[in-house]
Amino acid sequence: MKKLLILAILSSLAFAKLNVVVTYPYIADLVDNITGDKVNIKVLATGDRDPHHIVPKPSLILKLLKADILISNGASLETAWLEPLVTNAGNSKINKNSNGFLDLSQNIKLIEKPVNITRANGDVHAEGNPHFVLDPYNIKPLTLAILARLKTLDPKNSDLFVDNATSFISSFEKKIKVYESKMSKTKYKSIIQYHPSFNYFLKRFGIKNVANIEPLPGVTPSSKYILKLISIIKEKNIKLILQDVYHKKDTAEFLSKKTGIKIASTPHDLYGNITSIEKLFDTIVRNFE
Ligand SMILES: [Zn+2]
Repeated sequence: MKKLLILAILSSLAFAKLNVVVTYPYIADLVDNITGDKVNIKVLATGDRDPHHIVPKPSLILKLLKADILISNGASLETAWLEPLVTNAGNSKINKNSNGFLDLSQNIKLIEKPVNITRANGDVHAEGNPHFVLDPYNIKPLTLAILARLKTLDPKNSDLFVDNATSFISSFEKKIKVYESKMSKTKYKSIIQYHPSFNYFLKRFGIKNVANIEPLPGVTPSSKYILKLISIIKEKNIKLILQDVYHKKDTAEFLSKKTGIKIASTPHDLYGNITSIEKLFDTIVRNFE
């Protein structure tokens, strides 16, 4: 009987799924592409909210309690909300510098890094622009970074993870070719956006970001600044505003009323019908057609 019990415990350990907690939905999709149903995935933030300012609810602490690994975007995107949750969860597996914590930004060359430490880049982009997932060419290094870590934490599924990641990367590379072809034909070569959420995407496809509706990341525009935007739109004949899905639309609507500029609601992460990384890029690219 005792033997059977030990066997049962051992086999339940052998089949216990790794508990992966991620900060944003896009990371959950990358993990899911690699692991299929072999791990449990929990997401802390939703993709329709400001990623800089997630409300730290107690339910998020509960998700962290059982985590074997926490995967974050990093580059200060979670600075305002993640650390208190991790501290409250008190789960030593996911401490910084442990194998159960992965900061994806460590695998990416950040753009817009501040040359000196002032608040000149606004309040929320202290290390550079953290919205690097929106360069489709960053999807491969992000996938490989997650793969490398999951292999060490779940060696029994390592071969399967490698196969899954390889096939995802190869199919996504085909999608990139489609995006490149569509973006090369866009008539919107210069745009305005609310927050610099899309700079990696714009840089990749040679689209000029003429101005942001917020004068600095995290700073609301003054009426004087809005008037300046109107004259920029008219002077440079800008035809498109990329409006993220969480900032108020009233300034964009005012600019549109005054200049006729088109407003395109543009997601920065997965939510609603945007259930995969591919659908996220499909939606952004469609706004340029
Ligand atoms: Zn930002």
